[in-house]
Amino acid sequence: MNYLKSFMALSLILFQIFLPPFANSSVYNPQVAEMLSEANPHRWMGWIRALSGADPIQTADGLEKIMTRSSLVMFEPDAKPSAFDYLIEELLRLGFVEGQDFQIHNYDFPYGDRYPQRNWKNIILSFQGDDPKLKKERVLFVAHMDSTSDNEYLIAPGADDNASGTAGLLEAASILQHYRFGRTIDLIWFSGEEKSRVGSSSFVEDYADWLPNIVGVVNMDMFAFDGDGDACFEVHAGTMSESQEIGYLIGSVIEAYDLGLTYDFLDDENAYPFSDHDPFWRKGVPGVLIMENSFYNPGETCEKSDRNYNYHRTSDTISYINSATGFSILQAGIATVAHLAQPLPPKLTGTIDVTFPGKACQLD
Ligand SMILES: [Zn+2]
Repeated sequence: MNYLKSFMALSLILFQIFLPPFANSSVYNPQVAEMLSEANPHRWMGWIRALSGADPIQTADGLEKIMTRSSLVMFEPDAKPSAFDYLIEELLRLGFVEGQDFQIHNYDFPYGDRYPQRNWKNIILSFQGDDPKLKKERVLFVAHMDSTSDNEYLIAPGADDNASGTAGLLEAASILQHYRFGRTIDLIWFSGEEKSRVGSSSFVEDYADWLPNIVGVVNMDMFAFDGDGDACFEVHAGTMSESQEIGYLIGSVIEAYDLGLTYDFLDDENAYPFSDHDPFWRKGVPGVLIMENSFYNPGETCEKSDRNYNYHRTSDTISYINSATGFSILQAGIATVAHLAQPLPPKLTGTIDVTFPGKACQLD
């Protein structure tokens, strides 16, 4: 036996397991640490439960469950309760004002002529930057709100894909509003992702004047399944060096804030394109996809695939969510966005109080 060889192989394995690529814990920022401590796993899970129909939501007609977030259903006038309406109501409840804090991006129904009021919609919530030199620059934190299944007109809970991300952006919104950043942060809930990414593809066309100012896109798509409990996920950065820098930053925030995660880093042409970061990549805008360990990536940290076997099925429910791993990954996403946007001292102190029907989640 060649002991030196074994030792080197073991060192390599340990290195891969414990150190994300180019991680640098010196990025630590007390403001960001405070943001992460304010993130609330119960509130995040509450939103996942509501969006995936595990819990009913309060509507004008009483308590009802969201059974599907299919884009084919949620924009129909008679679709009640609508996941899209629910998201708008939650933003209003968090204190955001339509036309001022958030805007609705309408795009054409992709399957032929329709009345404009039945077009599909994205939601864009913006936090204006406070640094006169940097505020023109934008950091995008995005997730698709829609779901699908083999019975999507009736049942498509999509708890993992992608209520985890949809709820994650609500969680980010409730925290970020209490902080100041140099750059502008835009949270975008895309629809139509499950229909060939038509929501994000429409966005990059209709908001083409934003593209030169976007320093990075962080796309959260399906990150709360962890069947083997190893807290290993995937970062898909692709071949653009600016995207890879964002990937390294994810490693750094995991180290700096002790998030207990490892990840496969896809920094070549094997990076997964089939989500909302891809329309940005195609326009030369840097970005990454944050996703659970879905694939076997040879030579990478997770070492195997741990795929959610409920993917695009009516069984993608809350029962299969690993809240501990998913919440840590969400924190990594929030911290990455905060660092990209250049955190400044906070404008407010105090508590964030958001309640659910029948529940109360107080932060402090
Ligand atoms: Zn997805």
